[in-house]
Amino acid sequence: MIITLKKGASQKELDLVLEKIQKLGYKPHVSRGKDVTIIGMIGEYAEKYKDIFDSMEAVEHISEIQKPYKLASRQFHTENTIIKVSRSLEIGGKKIQVMAGPCAVEGKDIFFKTAKAAKEGGASILRGGAFKPRSSPYTFQGLGEKGLKIMKEAGKKYHMPIISEAMTVEQTVLLSKYCDIIQIGARNMQNYDLLKAVGKQSKPVLLKRGMSATIKEFLLSAEYILSQGNYNVMLCERGIRTFEDSTRFTLDLNAVPVLKKLTHLPIILDPSHGTGIREYVSTMAKASIAAGADGLIIEIHPNPEEAFSDGPQSLFPEQFAIMMKELNPIAQAVGRELLD
Ligand code: PEP
Ligand code: MN
Repeated sequence: MIITLKKGASQKELDLVLEKIQKLGYKPHVSRGKDVTIIGMIGEYAEKYKDIFDSMEAVEHISEIQKPYKLASRQFHTENTIIKVSRSLEIGGKKIQVMAGPCAVEGKDIFFKTAKAAKEGGASILRGGAFKPRSSPYTFQGLGEKGLKIMKEAGKKYHMPIISEAMTVEQTVLLSKYCDIIQIGARNMQNYDLLKAVGKQSKPVLLKRGMSATIKEFLLSAEYILSQGNYNVMLCERGIRTFEDSTRFTLDLNAVPVLKKLTHLPIILDPSHGTGIREYVSTMAKASIAAGADGLIIEIHPNPEEAFSDGPQSLFPEQFAIMMKELNPIAQAVGRELLD
């Protein structure tokens, strides 16, 4: 249930409403817009207390959120959410943010080389996997904490926030110590304990869509994170499983306008995993921006043929730089900014 306060309601009046919600055993979620303050009282049977709030002086009106996901819905938060990653970097605003880096951190020298290429190409955030969710247990599983240390050092050198994936509840502690954004991978989109754990820490979260998840399931997974008090969640479309086998996955571009309508959360597109083939990445990156994505996540590698993972979809540094230049006018055509 959503409680909308009257324009100009005071802090004292807001506190009274919050106190009442807490006394009834619910957790209030406050969303302050330009003019109105709305409070989400979310939980089973919340609606039965409607009359108590209706009679309060500061309350303008009460409405029910029809969708099963509440805090993620546009009804709860009509304006786009803008996530502040650092003092100078926001996700969800006018500027499209591009995250680039290797699939996995393979070693210090090669990672620094990749970070330099990401920076020079115009990326604003550095990606890299330290804990890798590989389909086979016999393939490279990541450098773990050592990889995170390398990432942190490179991020500092090139002035870029870093993003890496947490696969377990325990890893979220390490990840929130080293990283600026925590990634939850497609294979863990419905690992509810993990979602709750990242919801309890304060770093922004990039939640990837499960390869067989519907948009409703995707938003309900985001709701798990939001419900724990972390409102800095961005959604990542990374390709879904279809009957088509000429690409690794099928990048679901429909998801962009659909999500934009249903939710206020920023949307990041991953054409690297979405196609699985280097040759198609740039085209689908362009299409993603034209469709309204707030950001991209792109795999690059100085020597993709020798990459420990996802080489076939990783761009060479020069391809990345060319792609970024080509994306710029498309961003401008849809009223966004990309390169400085
Ligand atoms: C990745 O970003 O390298 C990755 C494993 O992504 P996904 O979870 O989308 O497969
Ligand atoms: Mn990968």
